[in-house]
Amino acid sequence: MRDSLVVMKFGGTSVEDAKAMERTAAIVRGRRERGKSAVVVVSAMAKVTDQLLAAASAAGRGDRPGALAIAARLRNRHIETAADLISGERLAKLQIALDREFDALDDLLRGIAAVGELTPRTNDLVVSFGERLSSRMVAEAFDQRGLNGIQVDARTCIITDSHYGKAAPIESAIEQKLLALVLPLIEDGKTPVLGGFIGSTAEGITTTLGRGGSDYTAALVGGGLHAGAIEIWTDVNGIMTTDPRICPDALRVKTISFEEAAELAYFGAKVLHPATILPAVQKSIPVWVLNSRNAENEGTKITAMAAKCASPFKSIAAKKKLTIIDVVASRMLMSHGYLKAVFDVFDKYECAIDMVSTSEVSISLTVDSNQRLPEICAELSKIADVKMEGHKALVCLVGEDIRGHNGIAGQVFSAISHVNVRMISQGASEINMSFMIDEEDVEEAVRSLHAVFFADPDENVFDVAARDAQVQLVSKV
Ligand code: ADP
Ligand code: ASP
Ligand code: MG
Repeated sequence: MRDSLVVMKFGGTSVEDAKAMERTAAIVRGRRERGKSAVVVVSAMAKVTDQLLAAASAAGRGDRPGALAIAARLRNRHIETAADLISGERLAKLQIALDREFDALDDLLRGIAAVGELTPRTNDLVVSFGERLSSRMVAEAFDQRGLNGIQVDARTCIITDSHYGKAAPIESAIEQKLLALVLPLIEDGKTPVLGGFIGSTAEGITTTLGRGGSDYTAALVGGGLHAGAIEIWTDVNGIMTTDPRICPDALRVKTISFEEAAELAYFGAKVLHPATILPAVQKSIPVWVLNSRNAENEGTKITAMAAKCASPFKSIAAKKKLTIIDVVASRMLMSHGYLKAVFDVFDKYECAIDMVSTSEVSISLTVDSNQRLPEICAELSKIADVKMEGHKALVCLVGEDIRGHNGIAGQVFSAISHVNVRMISQGASEINMSFMIDEEDVEEAVRSLHAVFFADPDENVFDVAARDAQVQLVSKV
């Protein structure tokens, strides 16, 4: 374990403009002054990935002017940010480099528009520009500020399979590359800056790890280099008792277990990518979630063991845009192999299932990807009656201390008795309780649950003092 090495990941909002990048530099300086060496992983500037995806899809439809207009706006934003951030000859050089990258992006978009077809492979190449550009700019900014910043093209280290759009990393190859290419830079006192989210196949074809994948890159880098800690810097004070956008009085959770955090991430808490935890768990590297706009805050520490908590839940997550598929067949009665036949169809189309419930003659399943649903339903229709219902959402309450509490389900469902619940799951994982409702009911359901389960929070686990201070502030105003 390299105890003094810390992998610091800054999300899109933490590099959204020159001011944010400036804050990022100050945070890294703080770590270096405390004797740490840092490897930095950055996302694309806020919203850039969405815009690149929009440009790629416009080009794929043959809308060349539309695609180029988006790219032109992105060019301006990056060039202007560079001008606010960097000065002198270094700026001139950087602007030439950025222009070159944007010329290459324009060429690529023209090519896609000419063919009128966007493949997943080309889509990955287009979106990779976001992290390639942000890492270049942040590295320059660090270097100018005496932090010895140096950009490392993440595609030289993050080796993946060729599952474009959601490539799987090959950890042994990644570790080898990191030790060969990044470790010597650290030993030389440099601060390597890598773009998150992007990688490449062993043959050098660009891939991406899936949306929100920069967290995953940070964990892979931390795991590969046996770092002492991984820090995920974002725009909230840590993992909160629920999404503060839904519930402004959400509390910071001081410590949470790997298992709880993984469950939350998987069931929709965007603050962490679900795959982030794994490389860290395997090597027992502590992960912190911290606020780049409020760097003094202690954040959330994710650890192997959960702290004992008086309340059953640590946090509530919600995931929208789900579809319920009801598979009904009288033939299912007593017939073995039927479930397998149904699941095989989902497997064939590589469609992940979130929740399952079965009765004598029917199976209800939920999925979050709509892409292959028409083919899946057509194939299932050969063995059963199939019904689909979209615009559903999953609400999930997570906490290791569910185990010690009786009558939890009763409390949960009486808190949301006014909401129509479609499916319920408890027991699949001992530490979560989840149910499906209509998308439009999510905010209301989460607020009601939050009010019941976090009315009297345990001070050892939740940052109650911050909420009290907030209440005092509001009552003074
Ligand atoms: P980044 O760009 O830094 O990766 P994200 O937007 O991906 O940031 O994730 C941070 C956001 O996650 C927060 O602004 C918040 O709205 C949302 N979020 C959802 N659930 C939670 C939760 N339980 N705790 C904290 N943030 C949450
Ligand atoms: N930029 C990518 C996204 O928006 C990856 C990330 O930010 O984690 O999904
Ligand atoms: Mg994120």
